[in-house]
Amino acid sequence: MISKEDIHKVLEGYDKKKLTIATIGSHTALQIMKGAKDEGFRTLVICRPGKEDFYGRFGIADDILSVKEYIDILDDEFQQKLIEKNVILIPHGSFVEYVGAKNIEDKLRVPVFGNRAVLGWESDRGREREWLIKAGVRVPREFDRPEDIDCLSIVKFPGARGGRNYFLAKNAVEFEENIRGMKLEDRENFTIQEYIIGTRFYPHYFYSPLKNRVELLGIDIRYETNVDGVARISHLLGEHPNPSFVVAGNIPVVARESLLPRMMDIAENLVKASKDLFKPGMVGPFCIESICTENLEFIVFEISARIVAGTNLYMQGSQYSQLLYDEPMSTGRRIAREIKDAGKENLTRIVL
Ligand code: ATP
Repeated sequence: MISKEDIHKVLEGYDKKKLTIATIGSHTALQIMKGAKDEGFRTLVICRPGKEDFYGRFGIADDILSVKEYIDILDDEFQQKLIEKNVILIPHGSFVEYVGAKNIEDKLRVPVFGNRAVLGWESDRGREREWLIKAGVRVPREFDRPEDIDCLSIVKFPGARGGRNYFLAKNAVEFEENIRGMKLEDRENFTIQEYIIGTRFYPHYFYSPLKNRVELLGIDIRYETNVDGVARISHLLGEHPNPSFVVAGNIPVVARESLLPRMMDIAENLVKASKDLFKPGMVGPFCIESICTENLEFIVFEISARIVAGTNLYMQGSQYSQLLYDEPMSTGRRIAREIKDAGKENLTRIVL
């Protein structure tokens, strides 16, 4: 286990005038690097062999390192190389999935933006739910056993899989029919959740401990195959037996203005609850996946406490970020701005 003190000791040795913002080459890496360059930082991207040309072509990566497998970034020698370059790593969805929340907490000596303790919370469905409930947020009902299913339900598996293999079931029989062909690991580890009908809103927030402020930087909807295609021809399909929920893209959305205060309340309550659950709480970008019901109530089924892929829609800022900033403010750039604002004195408040 790497302690905060260990990380802060590494930070102490850094040349603060030569910080390098780095991440893994996938997910939101381009946005993160563009934002870092806009804020005047050096950048570094770590990619798999064969991707160097792609990440080099935009002129936003000052340094490109490749590793055979992403997990190799945990090797001592590789970590030392990053530390010598005064690197602050920015975690994103693929980063957490490939390296593992536990490995990041236990083995990564390189400073990571944000509170690394949050990664263990946001990547574990049970803990996520505990956090949402503590924050007083409405969540879908869950059923412990297939026999308990009493409404249309969605069956999910662990990890950030972008919806892969999820299925719907209205009762235990439909559940058994669908789970039969799955891998043993999935047959033993699933979540059955009430399927909420409504409109999806996935707002992107940023919590700045320096300003003690939650900012709304954009909202998206995940564009999912094939369920979003099914909706177009549902009248021809009767009851479609097996829609899938595999993310294929993101669509921008703005919310009815009267919904925004509730959206902000949820975010603020989540920040407050995080301060109790894992001191000093969440830092930086986070997103909820919510559904607005016909009663205009938000039900939240997921929280991601790091930059999400939907923010790629807003590399030039969004309708909401423009209310707060007179310049194009992507989430990637907002992270770099927080690091810049922290300066020498306050880095330990945002790198934990
Ligand atoms: P991520 O890659 O974000 O970790 P995931 O694999 O954990 O995704 P979820 O985000 O939980 O999966 O769900 C995938 C999709 O399934 C959602 O975007 C949404 O369309 C649908 N979905 C999930 N839970 C519900 C629910 N309770 N009611 C309605 N739709 C849901």
